[in-house]
Amino acid sequence: MLSSRLFWKIFAVYAVLTLVSATVLVAILSSRQRDIVVQRARQRLHDSAVLLRDDMADVFQSGPGAELQAKLKRLGEQTGTRMTLVAADGTVLGDSDENPAVMENHRNREELLQARTNEFGVSQRPSPTLGIPMMYVALRVGERESPAGFVRMAMPMESLHAQVTSVQRLILVTAIMVSLAALTLTYIVVGRIIRPLATLTQAARSIAGGDIQQEVDLRSRDELGTLAESFNLMSRQLASRINELDQKGREFAENSERLEAVLGGMIEGVLAVDGGQRILFANRAAHALLEFATRDVVGRPIWEAVRNPMIQEVVRKALETRPHERIELELPRSQSIVQLSATRLPGDPCPGVILVLYDVTELRRLENIRQQFVANVSHELKTPLTSIKAYTETLLGGAIDDPEHNREFLRRIEEQAERLHSLILDLLRLARIESGADAFVLAAVSLGETVDSCAEEHAVVAESKQLTLNIQPAPSAISVLADAEGLRTILDNLVENAINYTPAGGQVEIRWCAEESMALLEVTDTGVGIAAEHQARIFERFYRVDKARSRELGGTGLGLSIVKHLALEFGGNVEVASELGKGSTFTVRLPLA
Ligand code: ADP
Repeated sequence: MLSSRLFWKIFAVYAVLTLVSATVLVAILSSRQRDIVVQRARQRLHDSAVLLRDDMADVFQSGPGAELQAKLKRLGEQTGTRMTLVAADGTVLGDSDENPAVMENHRNREELLQARTNEFGVSQRPSPTLGIPMMYVALRVGERESPAGFVRMAMPMESLHAQVTSVQRLILVTAIMVSLAALTLTYIVVGRIIRPLATLTQAARSIAGGDIQQEVDLRSRDELGTLAESFNLMSRQLASRINELDQKGREFAENSERLEAVLGGMIEGVLAVDGGQRILFANRAAHALLEFATRDVVGRPIWEAVRNPMIQEVVRKALETRPHERIELELPRSQSIVQLSATRLPGDPCPGVILVLYDVTELRRLENIRQQFVANVSHELKTPLTSIKAYTETLLGGAIDDPEHNREFLRRIEEQAERLHSLILDLLRLARIESGADAFVLAAVSLGETVDSCAEEHAVVAESKQLTLNIQPAPSAISVLADAEGLRTILDNLVENAINYTPAGGQVEIRWCAEESMALLEVTDTGVGIAAEHQARIFERFYRVDKARSRELGGTGLGLSIVKHLALEFGGNVEVASELGKGSTFTVRLPLA
């Protein structure tokens, strides 16, 4: 409370008022009291003078004497008053304190001059006889025209002053006591008003500081009590509102966190733009797809963050009129194709636009491959079918009766049908591989056994082409984790190609070994080899270095593609090393069983 400025303000006002009032009161009372004392002294002197005048009436006829002097002296001592009898001419007839014979003429004394005209005179002045300040009261004896003399009473001012001073001291002490009492009372009363205010102020300050659970305990029936009640009610309501808001804030934060996590995990890029084209939100995918100019894009205008006029145009259109806008665009830097849809948020003016970006690069690539594949398949099927049709028509046109050519034509038809057959078998095989891993049952397959049976099957062809077929087995038996039929297909295709593309007198070698967790199966030939520019592409479907030669050899252009897909399906891979004119080595890596 002592630190309360309001307390000291009110207390100071009351204190000043109390002190001023006390000072004024002391001044008024002192002055009034002095007047009263002087008045009473004068009255007493007057009354004494009247008595003395009546008592001494005949002295003015008889004149002074020792008896008179003794009487005056006695009366003076008894009353503590100086008494002087003065003749009409100013001669002192008798005096209670002094010998009249030595006293000078009193004719011109101020009080006597007044009494001569007004019957009564008074003056305060130093006594020339005694040399101290005195109060004199004089009464005229006899008529104004022919006065018999004067009676004069006097008392020293000193005794009056003593009286005045003692009463004044009493007044002052009383005033000080009353002031102190008033100040103490003021302190208590102001304190009683200020203390609840200080409590309320402290509570309000605590609320402002965040501690909202504040109750003040003021049980009084006056306005301060009502104020405290209202304060408590307000504090309770505030606390419940803040709790509600906290709860809602937490829910909102949780929701937005959840939403952010969901949006962040989406593969689609999501970008929110406000009515002023400023970015409000961009998820991870949007960052990856749009390659923003800066890392922190939130709050930046879209034209600053995304340097793509098409996207800016879409946002502008969506904000202006179109509720939904969809485009496909190619991003030059990443060379990816992105489908972008912009949806305008409802409201007028439009509060913003949501952009959803979907990377369709892979989709478009696959579409492209599929189109190409369909075209290739159609083309591959068309060629043998056209031949078959042509030979059939020739035969029907009469060649069937031509014993010289009819067998040859039928043999050609059979050959083309065979080609069609192997093409369709290869296509089915590819389709099966591409349908997924479920199509195969992976198990431990012995490489040695597979190679042996494959070599056995191709031995006759190799021999007919005057090729040497070598087998270089691993030092110890090796098994791979694969589908037995699939592994055989891989080997057949590679050995078939090696035999097909190696001229007579050449060599074909099959070897295998283990390398860490993988088995290496190599088919090497001393054949025509493959130029470097073709090496990367020979595993594509229908890709052939020399189309005519491949067809002549009964190839479909799908063999290596099947090898590659099978190897991948078994968790391995295939690669080629070749030099034109010297030969090729195909290496298949498969996981060891
Ligand atoms: P194909 O049925 O034509 O043999 P493949 O997919 O098996 O089809 O082979 C694709 C092409 O790769 C072949 O047309 C051929 O040009 C080339 N090729 C494959 N194996 C060899 C090899 N051992 N030596 C040289 N060229 C080869």
